[in-house]
Amino acid sequence: MARDPASEQLNQYKEKVQDKPPVLLTGNGAPIANKTASLTVGPRGPLLLQDFVYLDEMSHFDRERIPERVVHAKGAGAFGYFEVTHDITQYTTAKVFSKIGKKTPVAVRFSTVGGESGSADTVRDPRGFAVKFYTEEGIWDLVGNNTPIFFIKDPLLFASFIHTQKRNPVTHLKDMDMFWDFISLRPESTHQTMILFSDRGIPDGYRHMNGYGSHTFKLVNKDKEFVYCKFHYKTDQGIKNIVAEKAAEISSQDPDYSIRDLYNAIAKKNFPSWTFYIQVMTQQQADKLQWNPFDLTKVWPHKEYPLIPVGKLVLDKNPTNYFADVEQMAFDPAHMVPGIEPSPDKMLQGRLFAYGDTHRHRLGPNHLQIPVNCPYKTISTMNYQRDGLMTMHNQNGAPNYYPNSFKGPEVCPAVKSLPFSVFSDVDRYEPVDEDDFSQVTNFWQKVLDTNAKTRLVNNMVASLSGASTFIIERAVRNFSQVDVHLGQQLTEGLRKAGKIINISGKGANL
Ligand code: NDP
Repeated sequence: MARDPASEQLNQYKEKVQDKPPVLLTGNGAPIANKTASLTVGPRGPLLLQDFVYLDEMSHFDRERIPERVVHAKGAGAFGYFEVTHDITQYTTAKVFSKIGKKTPVAVRFSTVGGESGSADTVRDPRGFAVKFYTEEGIWDLVGNNTPIFFIKDPLLFASFIHTQKRNPVTHLKDMDMFWDFISLRPESTHQTMILFSDRGIPDGYRHMNGYGSHTFKLVNKDKEFVYCKFHYKTDQGIKNIVAEKAAEISSQDPDYSIRDLYNAIAKKNFPSWTFYIQVMTQQQADKLQWNPFDLTKVWPHKEYPLIPVGKLVLDKNPTNYFADVEQMAFDPAHMVPGIEPSPDKMLQGRLFAYGDTHRHRLGPNHLQIPVNCPYKTISTMNYQRDGLMTMHNQNGAPNYYPNSFKGPEVCPAVKSLPFSVFSDVDRYEPVDEDDFSQVTNFWQKVLDTNAKTRLVNNMVASLSGASTFIIERAVRNFSQVDVHLGQQLTEGLRKAGKIINISGKGANL
């Protein structure tokens, strides 16, 4: 049987090498005479410190890993382009959208969220869907997920929330108490939790899922008018998910299922694509919306804020060096370009700090000089940042201070971002009296059919039943606020799984 392109990678390399293999070299480029025997005193050792061939290789090997991403550690990447198909210049000056037919190179990284770099691809987890646009105005990173919303709305809760997905620090095991305790104590997480336990909680690889910028952004046009905006990228391959039992089977047989699927599709020139849309909202509409338009646990209903088509995202090139191109690919929501600006969305504001901070830790202060992260469509002399770990260039000898009299880079006042005023009392605002349920009720009642509801309940029961009874009861009480039938179906499913709960009696508030 013919092997797939991913399995054939080494044979393909062999075919590319003309003639005989090249000479083996040390890191400093000197030829190596022997690669199988270390330099020893006599055949039984010990080794000599002057064995540079060994030291050179081993010391590099000792440093082969960089810190794993705390979230989104397991992923796949690819390259391609974004092409504008519809004019949205009435909303934004961003050059990436400047004319129909314009193509901008992109890099994309897909990922699971909670698991380590070696974890299985087919787990129930949101999927990261991050897009890096290499525009002539710099890099625009749209660092999204495959869901339009998230579990929390305040970034102060992020580290705790992620800890609940990680390992219990005593047992080093995933812990259903940790997860469901947090979820049930924070009702704003109900919406995302429902989507997570629906069919879309385990997409069939990365090609068959939608992407969402999730946050609210601002688009600014040439007349300095703005609209708020959400980004959606819908799969042209069609939505396809994997049911829980099949996903578990794949996890044991091919834990790298999604990476393999993406690589092989692109290698076979079956290029995946997504249709790119925006939703827009004026300030007047935002003021009247029944929800906070900057709340990451809410969507903007399609009926009132229809999807406006913008373009096509196509992936047509596999990475040639996974580590350099994908492991070191560094996204940062703070990387915006003129015409695209942040909104007050608290989660976005928190991420504007956290991503750059992470990359400085993982990859160093010069991570933007790594080719995959470098804004190569802008000119190479850019700014007054110099030196630091892994510096690759010196900005063509330009001065390293500003102002200067030596033609160092100059400012561009035309791209000044839109002024905005904020006036309110500074405080720590807990979400009080916020409607955490009506959109979830819509999702349960209007989006899911009967079979999809049953699968959601079964998926949730399988996970919930691993938690302590008082936590299960609190969680089911929350889900009953979405719809009493959901609460009843969960209670019944849990009973069949051997968990008898009481959601109305004493102790329910624990
Ligand atoms: P619509 O009926 O216009 O939209 C429903 C959306 O649900 C569609 O975008 C559909 O995506 C998506 N969907 C279908 N099945 C699932 C699933 N199992 N998991 C996640 N999404 C699914 O209604 P509204 O815009 O009023 O939204 C109603 C509810 O739908 C929301 O409260 C939210 O829970 C959910 N939703 C809304 C989105 C939005 O941006 N408005 C986006 C995604 C979900 P598709 O068309 O690609 O099949």
